[in-house]
Amino acid sequence: MEKRLFYREIPKVDSFLETEEIKELIRLYGREPVTRAVREEEALLRDFIFSSSREEEIKEKIRNFGQAVGQRVQAVFSPDLRRVINATGIILHTNLGRAPIGEMAADHLRDVITGYCNLEYNLMEGRRGERYSHFEALLCSLTGAEAAMAVNNNAAAVMLVLSSLARGGDVVVSRGELVEIGGKFRVPEVISMSGAHLVETGTTNKTHLSDYEKAVSEQTKAFLKVHTSNYRIVGFSELVDAGQIRELAERLDIPVVEDLGSGSFVDLRPFGCEYEPTVQEEIKKGVDLVCFSGDKLLGGPQAGIIAGRRKYIDLIKKNPLTRALRIDKFTAAVLEQTLLEYQAPGRASSRLPVLRMIEESRESIKKRAQRLADLLAPAGAFARIECCPSQSQIGGGAMPLTDLKSMAVTIKPSNMSAAGFERELRALPVPVIGRIKDDRIWLDVRTMGDEDINEAAEQINDLLARTGDRP
Ligand SMILES: *Cc1c(COP(=O)(O)O)cnc(C)c1O
Repeated sequence: MEKRLFYREIPKVDSFLETEEIKELIRLYGREPVTRAVREEEALLRDFIFSSSREEEIKEKIRNFGQAVGQRVQAVFSPDLRRVINATGIILHTNLGRAPIGEMAADHLRDVITGYCNLEYNLMEGRRGERYSHFEALLCSLTGAEAAMAVNNNAAAVMLVLSSLARGGDVVVSRGELVEIGGKFRVPEVISMSGAHLVETGTTNKTHLSDYEKAVSEQTKAFLKVHTSNYRIVGFSELVDAGQIRELAERLDIPVVEDLGSGSFVDLRPFGCEYEPTVQEEIKKGVDLVCFSGDKLLGGPQAGIIAGRRKYIDLIKKNPLTRALRIDKFTAAVLEQTLLEYQAPGRASSRLPVLRMIEESRESIKKRAQRLADLLAPAGAFARIECCPSQSQIGGGAMPLTDLKSMAVTIKPSNMSAAGFERELRALPVPVIGRIKDDRIWLDVRTMGDEDINEAAEQINDLLARTGDRP
């Protein structure tokens, strides 16, 4: 094979820039980025000719040179952060952006952020307002709290609460609750970052109310309860309920703070989930401040919500750290719209994707899996496709013992490894993220919306038709 001949067929940059195809690109994107893309593709092509001995493939690459340049330019102008199809069955997938928000919230967000808004403007009185005012009353009516606010995320909320209430003093925590949640949230470190001093009490598996009492000193500024979101101690174990600590705390005039983690408003046990205290239950027990995430079981935006007694919320609002951790108008808009959905029973379940996915019935999931399998009929020529029972998880470090019965469509291509196929799925225009098990790809339909199912099927049919008969 004469490689020299191939090199000669690579278009010369200057003359190539004069072709109609490329002129069009230049008109759309400008000369500089297009020229750069041509040079980069040319270098790639030279390397390929140098290292490959497959004549047919080299010829094909030379033929498709213009197309490759076009794709490269387009990629430069396309956002890297984009939608993917979550086919893992993990509802709050931290790597995939945790909670998807509802349509209403997304529409409302667009409306609020593409123009001006009353973020800190009181329309009734025509003067400065407060960014928390848009959702504070809603949060109070939903949780029973006297006052509420929100910051950037729950990690920030916990740190801010402790900084406001306990800086320079002691915070008492059970040894059974000194946990690490994903993304490096470690309770001892958050306490020390807040400027408070951690006082451990009880043991890893058992803590009694008397342990809390023994740990109190002149320096004690708060009792902190932490929901052990992502792990459980089973067997000979005992933790003290926030309600019990409340009585002791009241006597000593020390606030009880509870980091609830996922902070659900809905008891999800009827849907096969393990017990998790709701926010309103904890407020009712008399916990002085609760904090929880906006984008876990609540199904809203990333945020750390703080709710409880007004005197403590007022104290927090005066802390200079609050300014550094404050939410923006994007979060305020989505949070308010999310909370609005909780006002009528059943409404949140149909409008918030997280609740909809948790609550979806077996029958409905089965039907959707069958629909995906049916749509994948053309791919059946190149792969073995089956509907199989699978297990979904809540994820996001919530309810580690809960496996929700679900359905998956499994795909085993006849001439590609599962790992190779998984790579191809990630490279699709709308990437499909599935799981490999038993040498097949599993697409759990619980986390796939109806549009996702159509789009996944279309792309996979296309992909297998393109690659399926490759030797
Ligand atoms: C998830 C979680 C956090 C961290 O919340 P982010 O919103 O991710 O910052 C803190 N505490 C508990 C108990 C959690 O479960």
